[in-house]
Amino acid sequence: MKNITQEEIEEYLSDVKKAVSEDRYRLDRNSRRQDNIDLFINYVIDESKAKDIILSLEVMDFSEIVQNEHVGFEHEMLYIFGKDVQLLERTGTEEVTVSLYIKFNKLENNYVIVISFHEQHYPLNYYFNKKEMVDMLAKERRDFCIGCRKEVEYYLKKKDIKKIIKDKEYSFTITTAICSECGEELSFPGLLDYNIREIDKQYREAEGLVSINDIQKLMSIYKIGKAPLSLALGFGEITITRYLEGQIPSKEYSDVIKTALTSPEYMKKCLFDNRDKISETAFRKAIGAVESTEKLFSISPKMIRVIAYIFNKLEEVTPLMLQKLLYYVQGIYSALYDTPIFEEDCRAWIHGPVYYEVFELFRDFKYNPIDDARFALFNGSKDNLSAEEKEVIDLVVDTFGMYGGKTLEKITHHETPWVNARRGYGDDVKSNEIISKKAITEYFRYIGKQYDLKSEDGLKSYIHSKLG
Ligand SMILES: [Zn+2]
Repeated sequence: MKNITQEEIEEYLSDVKKAVSEDRYRLDRNSRRQDNIDLFINYVIDESKAKDIILSLEVMDFSEIVQNEHVGFEHEMLYIFGKDVQLLERTGTEEVTVSLYIKFNKLENNYVIVISFHEQHYPLNYYFNKKEMVDMLAKERRDFCIGCRKEVEYYLKKKDIKKIIKDKEYSFTITTAICSECGEELSFPGLLDYNIREIDKQYREAEGLVSINDIQKLMSIYKIGKAPLSLALGFGEITITRYLEGQIPSKEYSDVIKTALTSPEYMKKCLFDNRDKISETAFRKAIGAVESTEKLFSISPKMIRVIAYIFNKLEEVTPLMLQKLLYYVQGIYSALYDTPIFEEDCRAWIHGPVYYEVFELFRDFKYNPIDDARFALFNGSKDNLSAEEKEVIDLVVDTFGMYGGKTLEKITHHETPWVNARRGYGDDVKSNEIISKKAITEYFRYIGKQYDLKSEDGLKSYIHSKLG
C-alpha cells in the first residue's frame, strides 16, 4: 500500500461525514451483506445509532484502502475503518464491546455506500496507530525540557536498559529524546507509552509468550467471549480479561493459549473438560466453531496455503469463484512444472470442476463472499509457498480472478477435462466423477502451445477465446 497521510484520511472522513449528515448514504443490505443485517438483529442498534457511530469515526480508526473487486468497478477504492462500541445484546443480558468493521465506497456524485457495517471477523490492523511513533518522530524535534524550563531542540537516541523480572535479567532497547542544550532526557507525551509497548513486545518475544492479538484471534476463531474462554482453559474467570488489558501471562498459561490457538482438538478437550463451568449457549457456540475449524485440517497443507494466498490477494471470493481459481492454479502450475501443486482431486460437478473437501469447508457461505476468521490460524502459512507457486497464483488471480464465479463456470464448461469427465451425464445430472490430474495437466499443456501460460496477456487471450 502506498504511503497514506493523515490529512488524506481526514479529508476522506470529512467528505463521508458530510454525506452521512446530509443523508446521502445507503447501507448495503442486499443478500450478500447478511452480516450487516445480523448486527442490527444481534444488538440493540438502529439506523440513527449507526449514523452516530459513523459520525464519530476518527483518523486513528482507519485501517486500509482496498480496490473494489467487482467487475466494471475496479477503479473504485474502498476505505476500511474499525471501531469498538458498547452495545446491548438484543436477546442477552449484557452490554458488550463490539468491534465493528466499516467499509465505505464514496462515489463521485458524493453519495456514500456503506458496504460493510458489521462485527469484525478478525482483529483489524490500524494504519496510523502502528505508525503513530514514526509520525511523532518525523515531526519537528522541539519540545519542552523540564531541566531548561523551556522549549528546546532534541535528538533521539536508542538506549539499552537492564531490568530484572522474576530473578532474570533482561535487556530492552528503548528510545530516548535528549535535550540539545542540557543533555537531559525529555519526556514528551506518548514517548513513555511507546517504550512500554516496546518493552512488552521484547519481553514477550524473549520468553515466547502470546500477544494480546493472539488472544483476540483465539476468541474470534472459536466464537467465545472473555469469561467463558478463561473458564474453558481452566483459568480464573477474569484472567483473559486481564491479559487483554495488558497483563502478561505466565509461560504455563501462555502455552495453554498457544496450543488452543493451533489445535482445535485441544480446544475441544478444554471445552468438554470445563463444560459445567460455562453456559450451555457459550459451550454450543464454541463447539460449533471448533468443529468447523477441525474441517480445515481435512485439506492438505498445500491447499490451505494456496487458499490463504488467494484470500490475501482477493478481497472478496465466493466459494464458486474459489473453486474455479483453484482449478486454474492446479492446471497452469502442473502444465508449467510437470507436477500438481496440491494433491486433492477435482470432481466434475454440474457447475464445473469442484474440490469437494474445499466445498465442504466453505459450504455455509453459499453464494456469499467467504469471510473466514479461521484463516487466522494460517496467517503466515501463505509465506511457505515457493516463488514459482506464488507466481502462478498471482497470474491466475490477476486474470481469471477478474471474473465472477458464474463466468468462470461458463469457461470451464467449454474445456475438455470437465466435458470429458461429464460424458454420459445430462446437464442437470449430478456426478462425482473425478477429473484426473493427468487430464488437467495435459489439457493445459496443450493450451500452453497456443497461449503463453506465463504471462497475463497469454491467459487473457485464452479467456477471451472461451468467452467469445
Ligand atoms: Zn534541557
